[in-house]
Amino acid sequence: MILISLSLRCPHCRSSQYRTSVFDISKANPDGAKCIFCKSIMVRLKPASWQLN
Ligand SMILES: [Zn+2]
Repeated sequence: MILISLSLRCPHCRSSQYRTSVFDISKANPDGAKCIFCKSIMVRLKPASWQLN
């Protein structure tokens, strides 16, 4: 579970806080994860790409 939270980020507010719902699962959001702040679909990123920031 920790590994998943580290690899998901909100592209809108860059939060890593999200909630998952089976109703939100789609082709673009296979994890069904949405940002708890702005309700954006969380994107899965490789940890290495965030070290550059
Ligand atoms: Zn957000």
